[in-house]
Amino acid sequence: MLKVTVWNEFKHERELEEIRKVYPEGIHGCIAAFLKEEEDFTVRTATFDMEEHGLTEEVLNDTDVLIIWSHALQDEFSDEVAKRVQKHVLAGIGLIALHSAHYSKIMKNLMGTSMTLKWKHGESERLWCIAPTHPIAAGIPEVIDIPEEEMYGEFFDIPKPDDVIFTGWFSNGYVFRSGCTFNRGYGKIFYFQPGHEEYPIYRIPEIQQIIKNGVRFCAPALRERKSPDNEEIK
Ligand code: ZN
Repeated sequence: MLKVTVWNEFKHERELEEIRKVYPEGIHGCIAAFLKEEEDFTVRTATFDMEEHGLTEEVLNDTDVLIIWSHALQDEFSDEVAKRVQKHVLAGIGLIALHSAHYSKIMKNLMGTSMTLKWKHGESERLWCIAPTHPIAAGIPEVIDIPEEEMYGEFFDIPKPDDVIFTGWFSNGYVFRSGCTFNRGYGKIFYFQPGHEEYPIYRIPEIQQIIKNGVRFCAPALRERKSPDNEEIK
């Protein structure tokens, strides 16, 4: 079984009526529900308000792939927990960072760049698949139309990705590297831009398929977790 932990800040859906209407079960609840359709996935959820944000050593030791969505509480997120997640990714767990989680402490630590971008509310997006042979693109059409989405535009200050699988084109003319993969230590990372909380983007079947493919892609390649420590050879 592939053990997936879906982590969500879970603030907007609790505090704002218009967001609660979009995701009454929380973004984590929506993502967990479609991931559970996969028979070989075991899915759990965790949120910001839980002890240690629900990302304890025990939970991370029992996670193959961690999915994160965050936005309003990036600064309030524990430095210690962010470092802990970084250590686990370097040791081999997969990480999928969704939408505004590009700016999480977890991603900033792992990427080492400012992670800044341009943004504007109230645009539409055409999500182009530009790497059709990549495993994350399996079964995904050439273009996915997202009728309402927050624009994320270049320059996106990330390190050079291993692969750029999707390019987002927005109705105000901006473009964005919307689906990128990275290796850090023994861990694989997938950043995926769609998913502003005001719109039901995680209910689009093709978006769900991309996240499912991302989980399979980011699953640890090694059965045993490796330590990213120096190793003396005798
Ligand atoms: Zn947003």
